[in-house]
Amino acid sequence: MVNADGSLGERNTLAVGSIEHKMGIKASATCVMNFDSAKGWMVGAENTGLSSMFIMMNYERVTMGLQGLGGSELAYQNAALYANDRGQGRSDTQLQSPEKPADAIIHHADVRRMLLNAKANTEASRCFAMYVAKNLDEEKFSTDPEAAQAAAARVALLTPVAKAFLTDKALEATIDCQQVFGGHGYIREWGMEQIVRDTRIAQIYEGTNGIQALDLLGRKVAKNNGKYVTHFLGEIRDFVNNMQADHGIKQATLDAADTIEALTNTVLSNISERKNEVNGCAVDYMHAFGYLAYSYMFALMIEAANGKEGEFYTNKAKLADYFVGRILPRIDAHAQMVQAGSDPMMNFDLSYFDVPAS
Ligand SMILES: Cc1cc2nc3c(=O)[nH]c(=O)nc-3n(C[C@H](O)[C@H](O)[C@H](O)COP(=O)(O)OP(=O)(O)OC[C@H]3O[C@@H](n4cnc5c(N)ncnc54)[C@H](O)[C@@H]3O)c2cc1C
Repeated sequence: MVNADGSLGERNTLAVGSIEHKMGIKASATCVMNFDSAKGWMVGAENTGLSSMFIMMNYERVTMGLQGLGGSELAYQNAALYANDRGQGRSDTQLQSPEKPADAIIHHADVRRMLLNAKANTEASRCFAMYVAKNLDEEKFSTDPEAAQAAAARVALLTPVAKAFLTDKALEATIDCQQVFGGHGYIREWGMEQIVRDTRIAQIYEGTNGIQALDLLGRKVAKNNGKYVTHFLGEIRDFVNNMQADHGIKQATLDAADTIEALTNTVLSNISERKNEVNGCAVDYMHAFGYLAYSYMFALMIEAANGKEGEFYTNKAKLADYFVGRILPRIDAHAQMVQAGSDPMMNFDLSYFDVPAS
């Protein structure tokens, strides 16, 4: 510590307890700090710490979504390269490489399923990140106070989704892409297991994804009686109903919006009498909400691609088809889980979870 006259004083009592040995992000060294009655100094005014911390935390949460996105994009690029190269089995339709003992695994529909799960989620995540960033800019810089306020409401609603849904989808993508490598995915030298390990932390720190989901359903939905959601659904329906593009994403997004509206109403009517409902339903509500948000992102992309020529744009339409057919139906499963409520978890006596100490 430094004395009042600037000279070196006695040593403060805080110390590093140990370096943390982590599952991943090993280039980011972290440690346990012991603050044994250490002297601290107040920064800023009293009782403003939590709100100051949230300014940082909200940006951190969006940044975590981007960390997940980076991991899933890297995993996809590696897996797509590998799938084009690795020979195993023969294509179900026609011989692809008769001069070789096997065709490349990219010809197998199930390998494409894994790649396209990652690709569709990654493209929707990127679009969602840009959408949230645009709203952050509008909140901060718009000269129209009403537009700034509307953007702030969207940012408040979508920040926990940007953190939790993007990172949950990112881990799924990295695992799917690791699976494309078969046994090599598990072997360190190929680098895929590192991407899985490094991405895993994004679901945990800056508030676990369970806590993000509670923020969404508890603070951003239930507390204002669904006001933010109603505005978001209005924006989605307005956009989709005015789309020029002719694509299945339109009806799919409208259906998803109806699902979220009904689900929000169910939760809002249940929470007054069922005290565990928000806590028990938050994660599945967040996932259902996330799939609606991604459907809206695909609608935005399809409309932007409308009338444009070239493979880049036609492939956007095909990827949106994949999303509608092979990913979006999950929204109904999550909706059903929310409808089942918190009783299936809370019905157990505490003693059920007793584990004999070894
Ligand atoms: C590598 C690493 C770096 C970190 N860096 C920093 C840093 O720089 N600064 C910093 O301040 N922190 C840092 N952290 C801490 C990190 O933010 C927390 O570990 C994380 O937010 C989870 O909190 P916790 O560990 O206390 O878990 P707990 O709060 O103990 O949660 C345990 C489990 O219970 C669940 N849970 C907890 N409360 C509830 C509830 N009310 N309802 C339902 N479920 C609940 C959680 O979702 C979780 O699944 C870091 C952590 C790690 C691993």
